[in-house]
Amino acid sequence: MMLQVSNLHKSFKQQKVLQGIDLTANKGDVLALLGSSGSGKSTLLRCLNLLNLPDQGTLKFGHHILNFEQGNFEQSADEVIALRKKIGMVFQQFNLWVHMNVLENLIAAPVLVLKQSKAEAKVEAEKLLARMGLSEKLYAYPSELSGGQQQRVAIARALMMKPDIMLFDEPTSALDPEMVSEVLLVMQQLAQSGMTMLVATHELNFARQVSNRVIFLDEGRIIEQGLSTEVFAKPATVRFQRFLQAMNPRYE
Ligand code: ADP
Ligand code: MG
Repeated sequence: MMLQVSNLHKSFKQQKVLQGIDLTANKGDVLALLGSSGSGKSTLLRCLNLLNLPDQGTLKFGHHILNFEQGNFEQSADEVIALRKKIGMVFQQFNLWVHMNVLENLIAAPVLVLKQSKAEAKVEAEKLLARMGLSEKLYAYPSELSGGQQQRVAIARALMMKPDIMLFDEPTSALDPEMVSEVLLVMQQLAQSGMTMLVATHELNFARQVSNRVIFLDEGRIIEQGLSTEVFAKPATVRFQRFLQAMNPRYE
């Protein structure tokens, strides 16, 4: 077991956004997180690396166990940092540092946080960029890259920290259509390399072909989950069936 979430709740003011989420990710799992806009996908991902603080629930991650109660979070800052180091995140908006070139974007955190030497980090960065098909962009600035290239850099940057799990929040939603596939391809290769991944996405083909399990969120609750091979073929709830139809009219 890599990650286990139990009874996770999160509200913003009076609005209950997550209402008792339970999920488990095992090593190598690729979970597709589906749901309409506003269903709580981003909030769930942000709770997992504590960008949002859960109100209630338990997160188990490796040997870390974090308990949340209303207004009460007991873990030390060190524990939070230790957890974040092991959880990579890729956002819809690439969030690269615009004043740094690609190499600087990649080595900043490993040098600062993991105390790698710049030389060591550069070797790693070159390897990762080669995997992403971006070897010649080492010294380019984000503004000189296409959206798809920026997103691949963002993925490489997250991987520089050698995370145990990667969270993706609609990584292709901000891209021009012709750039979606280059990013999905990189993610598919990452999945094949055995990375544990949790991917909020509207790309049903990706979810079907690459994820092994699907989680469907509706109003802050998981109302359907199962093996990708099964849930797409036979959605159990009318709500999920409608969602699939709306996303892809070929579903009947
Ligand atoms: P999704 O990613 O599935 O579209 P979100 O998690 O972004 O859903 O949002 C779920 C609900 O929580 C939305 O109604 C949104 O407006 C609300 N929400 C998300 N983040 C915040 C925030 N920081 N402050 C207030 N409301 C928020
Ligand atoms: Mg979102």
